[in-house]
Amino acid sequence: MLIVISGPSGVGKGTVVEMLLKKLGDAVLSVSCTTRAPREGEKNGKSYFFITKETFLKMIDEGGFLEYSNHFENYYGTPKFFVEQKLAENKDVILEIDVDGAKRVREEFPQSLLLMITPPSREELVRRLRMRGTEDEALIADRLKRADYEMSRSKFYDYTVINDDLDRTVAEIIKIIDNRRKG
Ligand code: 5GP
Repeated sequence: MLIVISGPSGVGKGTVVEMLLKKLGDAVLSVSCTTRAPREGEKNGKSYFFITKETFLKMIDEGGFLEYSNHFENYYGTPKFFVEQKLAENKDVILEIDVDGAKRVREEFPQSLLLMITPPSREELVRRLRMRGTEDEALIADRLKRADYEMSRSKFYDYTVINDDLDRTVAEIIKIIDNRRKG
C-alpha cells in the first residue's frame, strides 16, 4: 500500500511518521530529495537527500521523480526508483509530501491512501512553529501562508486526522490503514 501523509509544516508529521514506521514494522519511508539546506540535526540520506538545484533539474529531465513540487523557493521530490521497487516487494511505502505532490501520486496510483494531518487549531500551529526555533519570523509567516493552503486541500484526502495527542493520532492512523487493508 502506498500511504501519503501531508500536513502543514510544524504539525508534527515527522514524529507521527517515525512512530508509524515503528508500529507498522514492515513499512518503509521514502526519502525525498530537496534543494533546501539541511536544518540542524538533519542527516543526508535520512531526513532528505540534500542535492543541488542543478542535480534536481537533471533528475526531473531524466524522469527520476514520481512527483515533485517547488515551494519556499526550494524543490522537493520523491525518487521514483525506491517507491516502485518497494511496492514490487509488496512493502507498504510511506510518503511524507505536500498537497501538490499528493495529487500527482493519486493520479499515478489511484489506490493510494491519502491522509492529512492537521493541528488542533491554527494558534497551536503558530506555537509549534515558534517552538521549533529553526526559522525566523519571516519564514514562519511563509510557512503559515502555506499551511492555510495545505489545509484548504484536505477535502481531496481520504481522511483528516487531528494531531492533538501523538499516541491517539498514531492509533487512529493505524486503524485507518487496517480498515483499508481489510477492504
Ligand atoms: P520541510 O522543508 O519542512 O522539510 O518540508 C516542507 C514541505 O515539503 C512539507 O509540506 C513536506 O511534506 C513537503 N515535502 C517533503 N518532501 C516532499 C516531496 O518529496 N515531494 C513533495 N511534493 N513535497 C515534499
